[in-house]
Amino acid sequence: MRSAFEQLLLPAECLLCHALLSQRDANRLVCPVCRQRWRPVRPPWCERCGQPEPHFGPCRLCTDWPAALTGVRSAVWLDQNARPAVHALKYGGLPRIADDLTAVMAQLRPPSNGPSVLIPIPLATKRLRQRGYNQSEVLARALARQWRIPVLVTLLVRTRETPTQTALTPETRLANVAGAFAVRNAKCGMRNFAFRLSSFELILVDDVFTTGATLAEAASALEQAGATRVMGVTFARAAIPDFT
Ligand SMILES: [Zn+2]
Ligand SMILES: [Zn+2]
Repeated sequence: MRSAFEQLLLPAECLLCHALLSQRDANRLVCPVCRQRWRPVRPPWCERCGQPEPHFGPCRLCTDWPAALTGVRSAVWLDQNARPAVHALKYGGLPRIADDLTAVMAQLRPPSNGPSVLIPIPLATKRLRQRGYNQSEVLARALARQWRIPVLVTLLVRTRETPTQTALTPETRLANVAGAFAVRNAKCGMRNFAFRLSSFELILVDDVFTTGATLAEAASALEQAGATRVMGVTFARAAIPDFT
C-alpha cells in the first residue's frame, strides 16, 4: 500500500541526483549511475569481521566478539555517495529504497550451510513508533525476497533505548549497547529452544556497520539463547579513521 502510494506521488527521477529514471529503472529510487558510485568493500579484509586488515598484527575490531558471531560483511563504504541513501532509508520515510540497497547486498549471502533465517536488528519500541518502521526489517524483508529465506522479526527484541552511536569510540560503543537485546522465549515456554536455535544459521541484518558493537551485542543475546552460528550483513560500513 505504502509503496504504491510512494510510486504515485514521486516523480520518476533519481532520489539522489534527480536525473530522470529510464523505463527499465522506473521502479527504482536510485539511478544506475548513483548506484555505481557506491564503493564496494573489497578484500583483503579480516575473514571474520570484514574490516580491512591492519598493517601490523591481528585485527582488533572483532577480538571481543561472542564466539557465535563468525562473519560479518558489508556491501559498500559509507561515503558521501552512500550516506544519502542510508539517510533516505532511515529518516526519509522511504522504505522502498531498500530494494536499491539490497541489490548491491546480493553477493553478501553467506554460503549455505543448512537452514538459514534473517534477523533484523530491532528498534526500541519508542523509536519504532516515531519512525513508523524498522529500517533493518525493511532491508531484511527485501533480502529475504532475493535470497528466498525467511525473516524472523519476533525472536530478537530490544530491551532498552540506546543513545545514538555516532560520536562514540569503539570501546564506549560496546558499553553503550551492553544488554540492549534479549531473545524471546529463551527462558520460558518452548522446550528444546536452544537446540532448535542451534540448528539454524542466523543472519543479522543492519543498515550500517560502524564498530560492530550492535551486531556483537545482538549475537551475544542469540548465543546465550543457544545459537551457535550467527552471521551479519549490512548495506554500508563506516570507515573508522582512528581505529587501525
Ligand atoms: Zn542518480
Ligand atoms: Zn576482524
